[in-house]
Amino acid sequence: MIPFNKPFLTGKESQLIEEAMALGRLAGNGTFTQKCHEQLSNEYGLNSSFLTSSATSALEMAALLVDLQPSDEVILPSFTFVSTATPFALRGAKLVFADSRKEHPNVSINELERLISNKTKVIVVMHYAGMACEMNEIMKLAERHGIVVIEDAAHCIGSNFKNRPLGTIGHLAAFSFHETKNISSGQGGLLVVNEKRFLDRAEMIWDRGTNRKEFNLGKVTSYSWHDHGSNFYPSEITAAFLLAQLEERKYIEESRKQIWNSYFEGLKSLEAKGYSLPNIEEYQSNNHHIFYLICPSKEKRDGLIAYLRQQEILAVFHYSPLHSSAFMQSKGEDIPNLPNADFFSDHLVRLPLFVELKDAEFERVIAAVLEFSAIVSD
Ligand SMILES: *Cc1c(COP(=O)(O)O)cnc(C)c1O
Repeated sequence: MIPFNKPFLTGKESQLIEEAMALGRLAGNGTFTQKCHEQLSNEYGLNSSFLTSSATSALEMAALLVDLQPSDEVILPSFTFVSTATPFALRGAKLVFADSRKEHPNVSINELERLISNKTKVIVVMHYAGMACEMNEIMKLAERHGIVVIEDAAHCIGSNFKNRPLGTIGHLAAFSFHETKNISSGQGGLLVVNEKRFLDRAEMIWDRGTNRKEFNLGKVTSYSWHDHGSNFYPSEITAAFLLAQLEERKYIEESRKQIWNSYFEGLKSLEAKGYSLPNIEEYQSNNHHIFYLICPSKEKRDGLIAYLRQQEILAVFHYSPLHSSAFMQSKGEDIPNLPNADFFSDHLVRLPLFVELKDAEFERVIAAVLEFSAIVSD
């Protein structure tokens, strides 16, 4: 069986974990957490960052930072992972779901514009497959209405919008280091704070709502409770694991790129049969996080997944739309009609893509997809 994903180990993780153990201080926010923050700044241009135990928890920090009231509205895409939404639902805000663009899974700017009201406090965007949303337009729109922009950059490590790293453009951003992402610590995440006004509170929320940062700096003689907060940071063991991966970023990126490009070349001929391959706009870059195909019909998409499974290849769909989820239906509010989110949910398939996928394996995947498209034509 060719799996859909296999977490990559650089081989340096255990050595760095042993170093962390030898230092004898294993709770978070120690030497290795610091080293990860430095690496993320030097290598990716991500400053004022806070390692978290997941992207979900980074988004929960963001939701606390923007201080949502029950009357506030948060506009967010429907075609995304559930963690884009749950942190804002948890704060009691009203969720307003926006549709995707017709030609790309990313959120439509016209939709954002249409949905803004005088109650809108936050827009959350998600850059699908590390391919940027049109951030100039989104930031302009948000500034005009005094709205905070949060980037769900879970897919985005190493990817840009017009040469600016994703995660540095919105006011706040969240990355994921879950085992399915390009750089991983098993579970892990990162909050990036790009607006100074959020920084002091971010320090406290990150550290259980206390001013321990000031205590560590010798500014106060004891630390105490000042704000909302939780235990958001990972242990030093997790940070040591992550550091090993960050140090191998070039190798990881190069391996994924080679596989992604091979899929693209090998499957280009499918466009004549009504399938679409990813189309990278001039303002986007590609960090080769996901290789997806848009199939001509739901029947063909489901048929392709089943056919590949028979050939012992695991391919998967992406996202049940959030706007019509069981959770949103249980609230008894009107479910909006978001045809593009439904379209991508019904037509998109992701192919296996991981560092250790061998040439013979991705070639077998390409051959099987081509076979299916030849057998099941109109
Ligand atoms: C993976 C993912 C998350 C959640 O990341 P965790 O680190 O598992 O919490 C959130 N949003 C998107 C778009 C994701 O793909």
